[in-house]
Amino acid sequence: MLAGQPVLILKEGTERKTGKDAMKNNIAAAIAIAEAVQSTLGPRGLDKLLVDSLGDIVITNDGATILDEIDVEHPAAKMLVQVAKTQDQEVGDGTTTSVILAGELLRRAEKLIDQKVHPTLVVSGYKKAAEKASEFLKEIAIPVKPEDEELLKQIASTSLNSKAVGPARELFAKIAVEAVKAIFDGGKADLDDISVIQKQGKSLEETELVHGVVVDKEVLHPRMPREVKSAKIALINFPLEVKKTEFDAKIRISDPTQVSAFLEAEHNMLKEMVQKIKNAGATAVFCQKGVDDLAQHYLALEGILAVRRVKKSDMERLARSTGAKIVTNLDDLTSESLGTADVREVKIGDEKLIYVDNCPNPKAVSIVIRGANKYLTDEAERALHDALSVVRNVLEDGYAVSGGGAPEVQLSRMLRKYAEEVSGREQFAVEAFAEALEVIPKTLASNAGLDPIKTVADLIAAQTKSGHVMGLEVISGEIKDMTKVGVVEPLRVKLQVLKSASEAAEMILRIDDVIQAKDLGKDKEGEGGMGGMGGMGGMGGMGGMGGMPPM
Ligand code: ADP
Ligand code: MG
Repeated sequence: MLAGQPVLILKEGTERKTGKDAMKNNIAAAIAIAEAVQSTLGPRGLDKLLVDSLGDIVITNDGATILDEIDVEHPAAKMLVQVAKTQDQEVGDGTTTSVILAGELLRRAEKLIDQKVHPTLVVSGYKKAAEKASEFLKEIAIPVKPEDEELLKQIASTSLNSKAVGPARELFAKIAVEAVKAIFDGGKADLDDISVIQKQGKSLEETELVHGVVVDKEVLHPRMPREVKSAKIALINFPLEVKKTEFDAKIRISDPTQVSAFLEAEHNMLKEMVQKIKNAGATAVFCQKGVDDLAQHYLALEGILAVRRVKKSDMERLARSTGAKIVTNLDDLTSESLGTADVREVKIGDEKLIYVDNCPNPKAVSIVIRGANKYLTDEAERALHDALSVVRNVLEDGYAVSGGGAPEVQLSRMLRKYAEEVSGREQFAVEAFAEALEVIPKTLASNAGLDPIKTVADLIAAQTKSGHVMGLEVISGEIKDMTKVGVVEPLRVKLQVLKSASEAAEMILRIDDVIQAKDLGKDKEGEGGMGGMGGMGGMGGMGGMGGMPPM
């Protein structure tokens, strides 16, 4: 310490909040995020219409999407946005639930801190509670087998209940189960194996599952066949064009016959390429690159169906499902490198798609989403993502839990009992965690126009009498056995909700020092070492370094 002189370690203009101020500010920001998505929870939740700075519109009910679209400035709010992202990436559903729970955990934490419970005790109490809650949740889980078709459909349907897919819900649930079952292999289901294509026009109910690959392209030439049964398929990652020179070259021509000789050489090259394809025995060609007009003409003459500029991911899917090898050199194209399947062009409204089905590999599945406009098909794709994810989760894990707030009420009851075993002030934190869980049934109830407090009281009474499967069915507004009405969710989603919500709350509660660099936008010189998100990292580190001052 220099004799009483203040030591400046931060750049001028850096904002700093410490202690209780920092924490209160962070908690308020996080709660604001939770409140922003609260009204969308559950089947009776409402949608949000988001307009970005460019005027583009998104209509959605999906927590992760909403938070992704809105531009959040506050670092603690950003952490909550991250919760939704993590939840979405890990398990594909439960994003709104995890954000609402994190917000509620922070709200309760703030009360405890106001009552002089030290934040570190709240953090350790929350940790204990989250761990216990996960254990309890596993105890009450319901086993699901891949043969339980009906139950799987109910799980898919529950995730779709809160989505704007309306009367197509049953169809989407059925498609989700069939699609994931088709790719489920060796205890794993990789959703990347399912390709999803949107085609506007008609209605969501026209959405279709194709056992095969659907390529969003059309047959190149009017004289090519539109359908080839048991096609021999060549996958070419090589332009069927005359090679352009790497540098500009000028050819000096003195005699008109030289022009035709030159052109003829080009024709011959293209003809030769097509001949090689023909000799290999191919009857359908998918080219990742371009196909010259003349090459198209020769291919058409040979009766070969051709498609160009196919996406890399589609090429890989075609390879996996038809058994073809992607060749990068026409000389490598032999009968062995060909795959087989039925190929046909399908007209959908004004647009066309190529269906490649009857593939040797049954793991190839595609879903073609139909719908009146892009807003609808976009939201339908997000809904389908949730449905596919939940089916994958239960197939991989083999466990589900009831929905409609039932598990949250049950866990809350179990944690209250468990809290009695926890000594000291940590006990208050475990109790607060138990109370916070009730925010889920409460929100489901208030979004359905029901009294939240009364609903929770009724749920507790119903569970005491008839067990943990009793939850709120929001369509009828009645308390029912969730397994009987088919409101069921993957165990994995609820476990992840507990994990991501509690971890985010704990992280925010550990921060007691926020150092924010001067806005780089305003200060073009921008020497501040901790601008933007970098500031967040610095913040966490500072919090850890500085420790928690007594409050
Ligand atoms: P999230 O983004 O968290 O998945 P949702 O808006 O999809 O949020 O809502 C999920 C909640 O809705 C879950 O708690 C689920 O159990 C509940 N839910 C779904 N269908 C019903 C229903 N018919 N009755 C009551 N709750 C339901
Ligand atoms: Mg959901």
